Amino acid sequence: MKLSMKFLCLLCVLRGASHCLSLDREAFSITNYDLNLQIEPEQHRLGARGKITLRNDTSAPQKIAVLQVSSSLDWRAIRVGDKMLQFVTQPFTSDIDHTGSLSEAIVRLPQEIAPHGTIDLDIAYEGVILLDTTRLTRIGTPEDAAKSSDWDQIDEKFTAMRGAGYVAWYPIATEVANFSEEDNLFGVLGRWKMREAGSTMKMHLIVPMDYPSVPQIVLGGMNCPPTLLEAASQVDQRVTANCVSERLGLNSPTLVMADYQVLEQPSLEVQYTPSHNGAATNFADSAKLAAPLINEWFGTAKERTVIADLPHADAAPFESGALLLIPLATSDPKLFGLVAAHQLTHATFLSFRPWIEEGLAHFAQTLYLEQQKGRPAALDYMVMHRSALTVIEPTTTALDPEQEKSRALANTIDEQLLRSKAMAVWWMLRDMIGDAALKKAIASYRPGQDHDPTYMPRLIAAETQRDLSWFFDDWLYHDRGLPDFKVESAYAASTPIKSFMLTITLDNLGTAAAEVPVVIKYSNGEITKRVELRAKSKVTFRIELPAAPLEIQVNDGSVPESDVTNNTFRVPAPAK
Ligand SMILES: [Zn+2]
Repeated sequence: MKLSMKFLCLLCVLRGASHCLSLDREAFSITNYDLNLQIEPEQHRLGARGKITLRNDTSAPQKIAVLQVSSSLDWRAIRVGDKMLQFVTQPFTSDIDHTGSLSEAIVRLPQEIAPHGTIDLDIAYEGVILLDTTRLTRIGTPEDAAKSSDWDQIDEKFTAMRGAGYVAWYPIATEVANFSEEDNLFGVLGRWKMREAGSTMKMHLIVPMDYPSVPQIVLGGMNCPPTLLEAASQVDQRVTANCVSERLGLNSPTLVMADYQVLEQPSLEVQYTPSHNGAATNFADSAKLAAPLINEWFGTAKERTVIADLPHADAAPFESGALLLIPLATSDPKLFGLVAAHQLTHATFLSFRPWIEEGLAHFAQTLYLEQQKGRPAALDYMVMHRSALTVIEPTTTALDPEQEKSRALANTIDEQLLRSKAMAVWWMLRDMIGDAALKKAIASYRPGQDHDPTYMPRLIAAETQRDLSWFFDDWLYHDRGLPDFKVESAYAASTPIKSFMLTITLDNLGTAAAEVPVVIKYSNGEITKRVELRAKSKVTFRIELPAAPLEIQVNDGSVPESDVTNNTFRVPAPAK
C-alpha cells in the first residue's frame, strides 16, 4: 500500500495534483486475451503469460492502467514489446474474488492512450488457487454455507476456476465490489461483463502429467471443446488444450478439470465422477426427453450442452453459457428435465442481451413444465419465482425517469429480474400473439444483426397485427413496476333469450399495463376473456353467458402482479 501511494504521488508530481485523487480503475477494458496457462494441480499452481489488449473507454487520454488478478496470484512482468513497464502492486480489497482481495498492478503506460485508443501489453503472473471462503466468512457466513458457494480451486482431484465474480484467474479491471452493500458486487461485476461482452479470448493450456490418468478439461462460456493431445514423451508428459472465444458475451470463462468419465449424446455431454454413473445416465435421459421441445421453439443446437459434475455434495450449481456445473449425485433427479431445458436453450439460442438469453432459457422451463404437466403447473412455477419480484419492484409510487431506464429489463443484468420478470414477459408475449407467431419471431433473430434494444421487439411486432408498443414500453424499455388488477364491479341481468348479460368493470391500480385473462365461472362451466388494461385505468365490458355467473377471477398467474388479494369477485344474483 505504502509503495503504491509513493508511486501514485510520484505520478501526481509528474501529472498534476488532480490525478492524485482519481485512479479510474475502469478506464480501460481488456478487449483481447491471448494467454498461455500452465496448471500444476499437485502444487495448486497457475502460471500465466501472454498478451492482452487494453482499450481506453473514457473520453480523456489515459496514462495509468490498473490490472487485477486474484490476491493469491502475483504479478511478475508487464511489458510493451521489449520495454519493461514500471508498475507497483498492492492488495486491493474487493469481493469480486473468493479471497476477498485482488493483486492490483498500477501500470504507468509508455504514452498516453487517446479515448478509444488501444495498447498491447505482455504480461506474466503466477501463484496458487486454493479453496478460499474469506469474502463470505468475514461477513459472518457459516463455513459450510461459504464452502457450498465458493468451491473454486486448483487441486489434483478437482479443479474449477469460474473467473470474475469468483476467482480472477485472468486479468480484470474493476472498482471495489462489496458483498455487504446491497447489489454492489453484482453492479460492479455486471459493468465488467458488459464492457467485456465483445472481447475475444484465446487460451493455450498446458497441464504436466505426472499422475496416471488423463484428466478431462472442460472450458465453459468459451464455445470451444478442448483438444486433448497425446503426451509427447515419457519425460515431457503433458496435456494441452487450445481454446478460442470470438466473443465472451456475458459468460464468465470457466475452466474445470477432473478425473471425469464422459457420457456422450449428439448434442450433450455429461462429465461425471465415476461413482455417479447412475445420476449421469438419469440426466442424459431427461435431456433427451426435453430436447425436441427446445428444438421446436429455438431451432437446432449451435453448440454442445456440457454438464460437469461437482464432487462436493452441497456445492451450488453454476452456469456459464452452455456449461452447467452441478452436483449430480445429490441433485433431485425429478428436476433434471427442467434443468436440461434451460441449458439446452443456452446451447441453442445465442444472444448477448440478458433479457433475451436468460429470459428465453427460463421461459423454456415453463414450456417444458406445461408440456409435461399442463398450463397450471407452468403458472405455479412462474408464481413461485415471483415472490422476489413483488419485493424489488416499485408499487404505488413510480420511479424517477432515470431509474425507470436504468432498471429497465432491456438494460438490466439483475438475476432476479431476469429470472422472474423476463420469464413472464416471454410468457405474456406468447399469450398475446400465439405460439406460431412467437416461434417465427425467435427463428428470425440473428445475434449479428442485434445492434439495438428495439431489434427483438421489431421482429416480434412483424409477426402480429397488434400494436405492442405499449407493452414493450412498460415491461422492457422502462421499469414501470407491476400492474394491480381489481374487479371493481360486476352485475348480471337475464336476457329475453334465457341467457345472461354480465357487465364487468376492471381496474388496474398498478403502474404497468398488461393484457390479462379474466375467468368467469358459471354453474356448469367457465369462460375466459383477455382484456388489455393500461396502468391506473379502468375498463368496462359486457359478456353474454349461458347461465348465471357465480364468480369472476382476474389474472390466472400469467401476469406478474403486486397484489392478488383483490382479484376474485362473487357476482350478486342477477336482476330479473
Ligand atoms: Zn441461464
